[in-house]
Amino acid sequence: MTDTRQVRRDQPYWWVAAPPVSLDGQTLPLTADVVIVGAGYAGLAAALELARAGRDVVVIDKQAPGEGASTRNGGITSGNLRPSHANLARRFGKDRADAIILEAKAARDDLYRFIAEKEIDCDFKLVGRFAGAMSARQYEALARESDYLSKNLGIEAHAVAPADMHRHIATDIYCGGSVRMDIGGLHPGKLHAQMLRLALATGVRVIGHTAVTEVQKSTQGFAVGTDRGAVRARDVIIATNGYTDPLDRWLQRRIVPVRSRIIVTEALAPGLLDRLLPTRMMISDKRKLSYYFRPTPDGTRLLFGGRDGTFAGDPSWPTDHLHREMTRIFPDLQGIGLAHSWYGYVAMNRDMMPRVFQREGIHYATGCCGSGVVWLRWAGRKVAEKILGTSTTSALDFGPPKSIPLFRGKAWFMPAVFAVMKIQDRMARR
Ligand SMILES: Cc1cc2nc3c(=O)[nH]c(=O)nc-3n(C[C@H](O)[C@H](O)[C@H](O)COP(=O)(O)OP(=O)(O)OC[C@H]3O[C@@H](n4cnc5c(N)ncnc54)[C@H](O)[C@@H]3O)c2cc1C
Repeated sequence: MTDTRQVRRDQPYWWVAAPPVSLDGQTLPLTADVVIVGAGYAGLAAALELARAGRDVVVIDKQAPGEGASTRNGGITSGNLRPSHANLARRFGKDRADAIILEAKAARDDLYRFIAEKEIDCDFKLVGRFAGAMSARQYEALARESDYLSKNLGIEAHAVAPADMHRHIATDIYCGGSVRMDIGGLHPGKLHAQMLRLALATGVRVIGHTAVTEVQKSTQGFAVGTDRGAVRARDVIIATNGYTDPLDRWLQRRIVPVRSRIIVTEALAPGLLDRLLPTRMMISDKRKLSYYFRPTPDGTRLLFGGRDGTFAGDPSWPTDHLHREMTRIFPDLQGIGLAHSWYGYVAMNRDMMPRVFQREGIHYATGCCGSGVVWLRWAGRKVAEKILGTSTTSALDFGPPKSIPLFRGKAWFMPAVFAVMKIQDRMARR
């Protein structure tokens, strides 16, 4: 059952310790209470919740479970939202903005409680996160937001003035930043593997390498067609996020899959990472085309991620680009070799908010916009609670995302969007 193949350089570093398990050849049942499409964090979190409440659950994935974004990500438990609190307050009002931020806090706490109570071995450390500002203006905005979060919403956050920045990160590229102590890092592959183990132990049937090809409404629920036969179910959850395919053309017009790429260095000389990242925090920055980076859990390598910017073809351009950006931040990494470079798809939508919603009886959890370790697991739980009738509201109840004009699943406009963002990033530095 376990894939024992060697992990290639173009595959995730995480697969060395936690290779995805194929789970192919499992028998497809004829019926289930709930069929879940997609076996990432969202699908498995929903499945666990439903199975614990006694529901008969089948999770179907067209790849090995977890082979989507859930074993490819940076493992930063950000529960981040693209818009700032000030922006949320402008769009939704202050009370709703507070409720969204507080739900992110609850989602983070829920993940940390799950890891502790279920003794999930996923190298989790609540080390904090430093967000770097690219200009004095961004620094002031970060300082204002930190102040609001700590005084009004009970979140441990503070600004870090440029003069104090070297306590956290040995670079002069940022104009100060902010620290959030409620964010940490984990091994995403191990988290997924442990969620899968728990789901199987709770009686969930997880079926890999089986594509769901249609979901038809029937008198008593849904007929779910796959390339290996059909399953009848009372409820269906679509948890396909950045890997949404023509199974759901309606969703495909609303979710933009964007490649995010990560590089991991060779093991670094002893002491080097202590010098570059003295507090070993998770790092991100406030660019529109932002970078995120962190030490690997064993503390020997740097993991550095950002937008890939390509659709297909030779990975050497995006890999070289990330390598260049990494050494721009840390000149000491000049000449350091890379052990891995891989990509995965994050799911963007028009308002950049994660959400849960229902359409024509089908439940959806989607739209992480690059921050799904906390959010998509939480969204999966929220969808399950809606099916069970144990929770009716969530700050993520934004309804379906709006469709994107002239978009049918291939993000042809992204090069232009990236070019504009690049210019905005340059202007922001002035
Ligand atoms: C490179 C990268 C770095 C990231 N870094 C971070 C980070 O540091 N912190 C953070 O919070 N988030 C991060 N993210 C985002 C996070 O990984 C995702 O938001 C999260 O894993 C999404 O989980 P999911 O369960 O919704 O979807 P996924 O894990 O992507 O699972 C969706 C699954 O649906 C399956 N599927 C699709 N269509 C079908 C079909 N027709 N039939 C059957 N199966 C189907 C796919 O095979 C896939 O396995 C990152 C993402 C990437 C790609």
